[in-house]
Amino acid sequence: MTKRILHIDMDAFFASVEMARNPLLKGKPLIVGGNEDDLRSVVASASYEARKFGVHSAMPIVQAKRLCPNGIFMRCSQGIYNEVCHRIQIILETATPVIQMASIDEANLDITGSIHLFGDEEKLARHLKKSIFEQEHISCTIGVASNKMVAKIAANESKPDGYLSIPNGHERLFLAPLAVGKLPGVGPHTQDALESLGVLTIKQLAEVPEQILKSKFGEQGILSLQYAALGVGSDEITRRGAPKSISRETTFLEDIADWLAIEPVIFRLSEHCAHTLRSEGLETKRITLKVRYSDFSTKSFSKTVDDPTALDVDIIAVLKELFFKAKVRRARVRLVGVNLSKLSYNQHQLRLFNREKTEKWERLYEAVDIMRGKMGFDAVHVGKTLEGRVKKDRSDS
Ligand SMILES: [Mg+2]
Repeated sequence: MTKRILHIDMDAFFASVEMARNPLLKGKPLIVGGNEDDLRSVVASASYEARKFGVHSAMPIVQAKRLCPNGIFMRCSQGIYNEVCHRIQIILETATPVIQMASIDEANLDITGSIHLFGDEEKLARHLKKSIFEQEHISCTIGVASNKMVAKIAANESKPDGYLSIPNGHERLFLAPLAVGKLPGVGPHTQDALESLGVLTIKQLAEVPEQILKSKFGEQGILSLQYAALGVGSDEITRRGAPKSISRETTFLEDIADWLAIEPVIFRLSEHCAHTLRSEGLETKRITLKVRYSDFSTKSFSKTVDDPTALDVDIIAVLKELFFKAKVRRARVRLVGVNLSKLSYNQHQLRLFNREKTEKWERLYEAVDIMRGKMGFDAVHVGKTLEGRVKKDRSDS
């Protein structure tokens, strides 16, 4: 059965929360972001008044200052946003228990089974918008469609304070006239590359011969582009409430001394963890490698990173550092585990540097996650990972 997925996104969330807390800020160009002295700092949220000056999120604060010199600049009040986020989740639960946060200010709801309780889809959406506005004094936008991606784009197209529903079967039609940059994973770099091929709209992207895309983006790069252009996306909404940590471990059939055989197993575990992380709209700041040696002594090696991440490449890079510590003990290994903690909702705090590289990986994982949603986790293997010699696989996220 085709589902109905509701995507809800708070309008200029951080800026709106600040305005709700201090009404004197209302109607002003308000820019919320990181430390102004840090050159890597970016805008986390800009009020619609600030956007008129060309300011948008993920823009360097320095640039925002140039565009909007009379704007009001504020640092993020992290704890407050989390509290508002939790209160909004409680409101969302009045519509359905099948909720998945996609970031601190976005959520996907499977409303298939609860539409009838409200009369129709639009009444359900209006109920959420009204409840949030009455309680938190902030507005939001809702998109409804057969999958998460199309619902999100529908919401993006009707911001702020909007509502848009795409009937099942109309996904491709709805997307066709939009610019390719509206698709998830198509950032400025990919958009430039597509434009150089003469591909400006999603319709053109859907029609461009596979061979041409392949030459530009590689075998795996085209997957997500093709899926997305056709309006195909995941409708999987699995759980509610954010886990405190995500972990996965494996016991070997026999104790192993060769780290060349152990490492790929750990990469595989980290892929599982990262996949769960992304599907929960979370990022991690702390990566832990757990090793149990043949004498049953267990050691944990951890590293906290500066920039939270949800990308396998970043997590694997840290694990590679931790291997050195784990190898110091020249003992056979009985069990290995990966744990991701210090989790937070994806804050859209995009890094300034390496944006091109990050974009490429995000696009790849977007495709990988969609395929896994459709065909199961093992449908896709990224990088060199190894199955086998494994007795049990346990997840206790
Ligand atoms: Mg938002």
